[in-house]
Amino acid sequence: MKTKSYAANSATTPLSPFNLVRRAPDEHDVHLEILFCGVCHSDVHTVRNEWHGTTYPCVPGHEIVGRVIKVGAEVQKFTAGDIVGVGCLVGSCHTCESCEEHLEQFCENGSIFTYNSPDKHSGGVTYGGYSESIVVNEDFVLRVPGNLDLAGTAPLLCAGITTYSPLRHHGVTQGQKVGIVGLGGLGHMGVKLAKAMGAHVVVFTTSQNKVEDALRLGADEVVLSKDESAMNKHLNSFHFILDTVGAKHDINAYLVLLKRDGNLTQVGVAPEPLEVDVSNLIFGRRNFSGSLIGGLKETQEMLDFCGQNNITSDIEIIPIQQINEAYDRLVKGDVKYRFVIDMASLRVNS
Ligand code: NAP
Ligand code: ZN
Repeated sequence: MKTKSYAANSATTPLSPFNLVRRAPDEHDVHLEILFCGVCHSDVHTVRNEWHGTTYPCVPGHEIVGRVIKVGAEVQKFTAGDIVGVGCLVGSCHTCESCEEHLEQFCENGSIFTYNSPDKHSGGVTYGGYSESIVVNEDFVLRVPGNLDLAGTAPLLCAGITTYSPLRHHGVTQGQKVGIVGLGGLGHMGVKLAKAMGAHVVVFTTSQNKVEDALRLGADEVVLSKDESAMNKHLNSFHFILDTVGAKHDINAYLVLLKRDGNLTQVGVAPEPLEVDVSNLIFGRRNFSGSLIGGLKETQEMLDFCGQNNITSDIEIIPIQQINEAYDRLVKGDVKYRFVIDMASLRVNS
């Protein structure tokens, strides 16, 4: 099926209209019309080949909310007209240890990501959500709670699960002191989710102009990370810190803020290695770890949690024609706090 989209043709050219072909849905597939797609910093890293390994043309987008057009004969969970979500994953082997434990993002035979992954159906690569529609196996389609704003729900499919999963995995609970580093798409979701879990939330930002917003979003305290004396007031005090910064920065400045046995989890993916001073881990038996999105079961749990707690992303809606300007602003940290593409703009104008 011929489908309109926006694609990058190289690391240095702007995204532009591209016609791709979606497969006809098989008996286990769901075909959905895409209503909204969030713009993740990973889209920019991939389009600009900052992590290497991008295949062009590249159609990014893994924060998808859409309406089901058609389902395959064997599909039980969804019917035409349902509002559904698709996140970063569209396939996995289902049989390895990680898949059996509902951790499809770590599939030992190769997770299939929503874009820039080998596509066994087409023989090329997967094409993501900056498009009119997508065809996805039913196991990778999620139910969207009926009470949530649809555009604000799209970013939950990546920014939401990427922050929810490590907060849960590390047992964040009532009364714990939790730090969120970087107030961007992931960071602002981390604040809302950690707050809803009952934590005392401290935001670390490099941007003076985000201080008021951080408090409005639910933070109990905000620290300008360049202010050394403000940082020193928090030495040895955090149970858990989630670092969402996807650029080179000094993580040792945060490791020393952890209590004994505390954990700093890195989710931002800087293109260059980050330096760890191991004495910051040895003294205090502190832990430094990473986390990758979340499995399908946990993503559904996160969506349901957001439904129960009325949590969506703070967004700026754009037409697809403004995607290149949006990338430039995202790189400057100038978005409050996630761009979401209204995909109706693709159907009408290009
Ligand atoms: P974003 O909206 O651009 O937010 C990142 C924030 O980090 C910025 O708003 C800024 O916050 C801060 N920051 C940026 N550059 C900085 C620098 N040089 N030094 C210190 N702080 C800086 O990006 P995002 O969409 O949230 O994604 C963040 C990162 O997570 C990206 O690398 C992305 O690829 C990655 N990611 C990882 C996963 C995963 O599964 N692990 C999933 C999705 C995305 P302040 O202005 O508050 O300082
Ligand atoms: Zn993402």
